[in-house]
Amino acid sequence: MTERDDSILSPIEDAGSRGSTWSRNASGEWLVAGQPLSRIVDAVGATPCYLYDRDRLSERVRELRAQLPQGVDLHYAMKANPMPALVCHMARLVDGIDVASRGELRVALDSGMPAARISFAGPGKSELELRQAVAAGILTHIESFREIPVLAQASERSGSAARVAVRVNLPFELRASGMKMSGGARQFGIDAEQVPDMLRRIDAAQLSFEGFHLFAGSQNLRAAAIVEAQTRSYDLVTGWLDQCPSVPRTINLGGGFGIPYTLQDLPLDLAPIMDNLAALAARARSDLPGARLALELGRYLVGEAGLYVSRVIDRKLSRGQVFLVVDGGMHHHLAASGNFGQVMRRNYPVAVNRLSPSRESASVVGPLCTPLDLLADRADLDVAEVGDLVVVFQSGAYGRSASPREFLGHPDALEALV
Ligand SMILES: *Cc1c(COP(=O)(O)O)cnc(C)c1O
Repeated sequence: MTERDDSILSPIEDAGSRGSTWSRNASGEWLVAGQPLSRIVDAVGATPCYLYDRDRLSERVRELRAQLPQGVDLHYAMKANPMPALVCHMARLVDGIDVASRGELRVALDSGMPAARISFAGPGKSELELRQAVAAGILTHIESFREIPVLAQASERSGSAARVAVRVNLPFELRASGMKMSGGARQFGIDAEQVPDMLRRIDAAQLSFEGFHLFAGSQNLRAAAIVEAQTRSYDLVTGWLDQCPSVPRTINLGGGFGIPYTLQDLPLDLAPIMDNLAALAARARSDLPGARLALELGRYLVGEAGLYVSRVIDRKLSRGQVFLVVDGGMHHHLAASGNFGQVMRRNYPVAVNRLSPSRESASVVGPLCTPLDLLADRADLDVAEVGDLVVVFQSGAYGRSASPREFLGHPDALEALV
């Protein structure tokens, strides 16, 4: 154990995340929606639980919108967090919702977002899903030639032409991206080389063409890489204009905006991205009058507003190393365990829900019988005892819904919007 160093008391450091704005009260309880965490957890009912802070969600969107140039829409990609109450909250704040399954579509349609502003992407849309999309009047992002006859049939059946945009597999990658989803051979979208053929077939099938969708990758903290991808995406689209069945009304430039998880991560610098979007929006006003650009963001909008809270069940010492065994783990929060596609395991910001006179290095592990169930590897924490709450910050995106909750048969995590 080490004596507590007062400089460590800053909430940013304590949460282990630069840019984190969570704060503690005098006894060291984290404040969530103005209340001590233990009280919120009691109100929610039990640990483990995910808490999503309503005001932080609203504030995040407000800040982003304040910088967003005219002519650029903001969409929420709900796979980042599909909790119905959260999606309803987001629906009031953004211009559109992007879904990736019929399960998500059902939540989006219930959310209050008009169907006209819901779009649907995904590499393996079933006939049922495509029919549902057409009947509901949402925008389908076409990702395969196979979807054309299915959409044409669904259009006939519903009596209105399917609204479609072409999702493009870009001929380049998003540099420095946590997860690349474009460039090279991909299951997503239509290869850029095949887009002219796709446009002809959309025209021939009399689908209602609305534009393009270009999504390069995820979790990027390098503004220059995002700027480059957005500009190259826009340039590609302008090369296809004379082959489009009609003037595109929407160009969805994707997103990929990342959030910091460690002190080494610098938060994304939005200014150059917004400047570039303003320039692209100006070009769009002359190249394709009436068209709108769109960003679709998941993690950036919701990731920092969420906490995952578990309770210490046991405190063990093994050959000098402290293990805090908590009642939650990788089965609820796969990403925090480092097993959600991360190349290198790094601790999410983690903290104990009280101040102790000293700090120690402790590993936070879950109750599963696998060494993968590791929420924090030798983190610098306040000394915790059985019964204490442990918080994993930056947990609002790719948390509960992206985790193997059946694995080992422990109870599910509760979720609350607070
Ligand atoms: C996953 C995904 C998103 C959201 O990505 P984030 O990194 O969470 O912003 C957006 N669009 C598409 C098509 C996706 O597959």
